[in-house]
Amino acid sequence: MDSGQLAEGSYVRQFEEAFGAAQGLPYVVATNNGTAALHAALLAVGVRPGDKVLTTPFTFVATANAVLYCGARPVFADVSPATGNLDPQAVEEALRADPAIRYLLVVHLYGLAAPMPELMELARRYELTVVEDCAQAHLASIDGQPVGSFGRAAAFSFYATKNLTTGEGGCVASTDPEVAERARLAAHHGQTGHYFHETLGFNYRMTNVAAAIGLGQLERLEAMTEVRRANAAYYDATLAGHSLQVPVAPPGYRHVYHQYTLRVPGPDDQRRDRLAAYLKEEGIGAAVHYPRPLTRQPSLAGRFDVAGGGELPAAEELAAQVLSIPVHPLVGPEERERVAEAILRWEEEDLR
Ligand SMILES: *Cc1c(COP(=O)(O)O)cnc(C)c1O
Repeated sequence: MDSGQLAEGSYVRQFEEAFGAAQGLPYVVATNNGTAALHAALLAVGVRPGDKVLTTPFTFVATANAVLYCGARPVFADVSPATGNLDPQAVEEALRADPAIRYLLVVHLYGLAAPMPELMELARRYELTVVEDCAQAHLASIDGQPVGSFGRAAAFSFYATKNLTTGEGGCVASTDPEVAERARLAAHHGQTGHYFHETLGFNYRMTNVAAAIGLGQLERLEAMTEVRRANAAYYDATLAGHSLQVPVAPPGYRHVYHQYTLRVPGPDDQRRDRLAAYLKEEGIGAAVHYPRPLTRQPSLAGRFDVAGGGELPAAEELAAQVLSIPVHPLVGPEERERVAEAILRWEEEDLR
């Protein structure tokens, strides 16, 4: 506030550099939110009206909306029931069925990287351009390689609940300076000189105030991530082996637990909702991410294709079974104990 520069200013550049250093991505363009970052990233890699973009139906609606903002068409492939991330086999079937698909938009759901080695191999074989939606996955990695560095461009969100926040905010990141430059143009009205506009762009700029908040947050990002991981390890140890399924991370995958999401399988399809209601009564903030696949969002009706003729059984099953419990950095040892005890108490009664 004291700098007098409430809109763009020097903190934005500092934040771009510092976030890039933390995430291991050399070129960063700050934006006003993660949805704008996704839109700018897709434009920067060349997504145009009529293009088909293969993506997941089990994500926040912004992922598909950004495709639609480009005039392109989302094609949904099913996810892995174990992680909720895109299933490489379903992706390959989709690519075989529809040779018009040129782009793959991967989401790293809940803070766990999607299976990038397999997906990048498919991208190579089918000549796809890959964009990563890293909105939930700051500092996640596979064998030390950070998310955002696999594809041609990545988008991050710094919304209030994300692992790093600027209130509202986001960024495009890339290992390719030309992609980053095109994203910068997309987010800055295509401006290349003083009131000179080379291309049609948008006003997706981050404010200096948001960037200053982000710089403060960045100092704590690694420590906050470790608190999430410690909370998750506690839940793993306490809840595993019961009738609920705890999240899994393959060897070498650093899960950053944007959400700690349980699966609550049947016998009947109300069981997840019964646990959610019980936790609400106990004053515990549990939430469903996400209660329906994007294919059943009214806003998207008629605007997408489904690979392989319309069935997404894993996404449907997860939508009916998932429940996220508090894992964020303000959850301490006492709170997490209370959460786990409440869940085990409920389970005992429910199984009786
Ligand atoms: C939060 C989120 C977005 C959108 O980010 P905003 O900053 O809220 O616009 C996009 N994709 C996923 C997977 C998200 O979780």
